[in-house]
Amino acid sequence: MADAPRLTLLGTGTPTIQLHRGGASYLVRLGEQQLLFDCGPFAVHRLLEAGSGPTEITSLFLTHLHYDHAADYGHLVLNRWDEGAGQVAELDVYGPEPIEQMSASLFGPDGVWGPDLAARTGNPGSQSVYESRGGELPRLPPQPNVTTVATGDVIEGDGWTVRVAEVIHFQPHLICLAYRLDVNGTSIVFGGDTRPTPALTELAQGADVLIHMCQYVTGEETDPRLTDTCSGHIEAAETARDANVDTLILTHITPQVEHPRVRERVILEAGQVSGCRVIFGEDLLEVPLDAKGEQS
Ligand SMILES: [Zn+2]
Repeated sequence: MADAPRLTLLGTGTPTIQLHRGGASYLVRLGEQQLLFDCGPFAVHRLLEAGSGPTEITSLFLTHLHYDHAADYGHLVLNRWDEGAGQVAELDVYGPEPIEQMSASLFGPDGVWGPDLAARTGNPGSQSVYESRGGELPRLPPQPNVTTVATGDVIEGDGWTVRVAEVIHFQPHLICLAYRLDVNGTSIVFGGDTRPTPALTELAQGADVLIHMCQYVTGEETDPRLTDTCSGHIEAAETARDANVDTLILTHITPQVEHPRVRERVILEAGQVSGCRVIFGEDLLEVPLDAKGEQS
């Protein structure tokens, strides 16, 4: 069973490296289950700052395999496996093609971390640490349960459901997905990186929360190579309006968007266009999922 969800924005940044914005990552705590959506750079450290940790994550959903959304995937799995010492179930991982190839390339015997894993499973020093943490030999390498998902798929969890839709970003090089989580009467949509996409509007219909990229200030980015693959604040707001969501969270924030005065204009205009609550995403922000405590 799942408790009422708690949503924390772990990373709200872009590929631009910044200390105050890690790569994309969002945590949903459901009591004993914890779901992570995207795992960009710094996500593992943000997990600790949010009062959680890798061994507490039960499922990971990757929207796409750009590094600003997936760079900490290896770190999460390796740390979770190391500190879990055989005491936690394998991580369930969902993502678009080629997530299985990426996983094998990271954790397989001939993969990037093959020598590390051979050492940690076979070296007496590592075996000592493993046993001191409660592990029983022989020590096996991590084997996350990796599932390739695509548009239209439905993932049934313990008390929750995740629906999948493909959004338009960097195809054909990368497939990008959006996910809708429904749990205990609350719906949260993770839009991935996308330009305006009817499939996202459909997926997000009536959702409580839509987390949507805001790569630039609409009108100030005119290169069609970018505007054909990403969204600005007005596009995000129009999708939120057309999907009738309750709250729009702007994320994937660039320095241009958060510049003082620009930021305030973005929030104001996004609210005017969407007609819904607008939250400007910040790392480690715990998002209120009901109206309690709000002042009218
Ligand atoms: Zn991105």
